[in-house]
Amino acid sequence: MGFQALNGQFSLMKNINEIEELIKLISKLPGLGPKSAKRIVLKLMNNRDELMKPMANTLNEVYKNVSRCKMCGTLKSNSVGCNNCENKDKKFNKICVVENISDQWSIENSSIYQGYFHILGGTLSSSNQRKEDLLITSLVDRVKKDSIEEVIIATSATVEGQTTAHYIKNSLKETKAKVSKLAQGLPVGGEIESLDDGTLFSAFKNRS
Ligand SMILES: [Zn+2]
Repeated sequence: MGFQALNGQFSLMKNINEIEELIKLISKLPGLGPKSAKRIVLKLMNNRDELMKPMANTLNEVYKNVSRCKMCGTLKSNSVGCNNCENKDKKFNKICVVENISDQWSIENSSIYQGYFHILGGTLSSSNQRKEDLLITSLVDRVKKDSIEEVIIATSATVEGQTTAHYIKNSLKETKAKVSKLAQGLPVGGEIESLDDGTLFSAFKNRS
C-alpha cells in the first residue's frame, strides 16, 4: 500500500511544506501543471529508493558538473570540457546557429548536417532575453578563430527568429564567412525542434 491510498485525503498534503514546495517547482517544468506535478510527487513518494533518491543525487551531480559552455552555448561537462567547440579531433568549416539545445539535438538526430553548433539561448525579442545574453559576440569570435567558411542560421520561422537571423547576419559582416539561412519551405512559426526529418533535410539542402 502506497501513498495512492491516501488520495482521498490528498488535501492534507497541503500542510506538508516540503511537498508543497516540490509540487510548486515541478509545476514550473515545461508541459506540466499542478495536477501532473502532484502525480509526479506521488510517484516519487511511492518509489523513494528506486526513483526519488537517484533523482535527487543525479540532479545534484548535474547541477555541480554540467553547465552551458560560455563560448558555444551547448551543455558541457565541467571536468571534460566542451565536446562541441573544444573538440580538437574533428575540424569543421561550418557552424549551424540554433536557438536552443533541443534544436541541436533534432538536427544531430537527423544526421543531415556535419559541423559545429552554436546555441544562442533564445531569440532577440523573446521576453526576459537581453541582447548580451545571446551568444552572438562569441559566435563572431568562433567564426574568426576557427576560420569558419559557412554559417548556417537555423533560427525558427517566427518573427523573433527571423529578426535574430537578420541581426546575426549583420554581426558577421566583418568576417569572411558565407552566411546562409535554412530554406523558405519552413512552415511559418515553425520551430526547428518540431520539424520532421524530411522537412529539415530539404531546408538544409536548399539553404540560401
Ligand atoms: Zn562550447
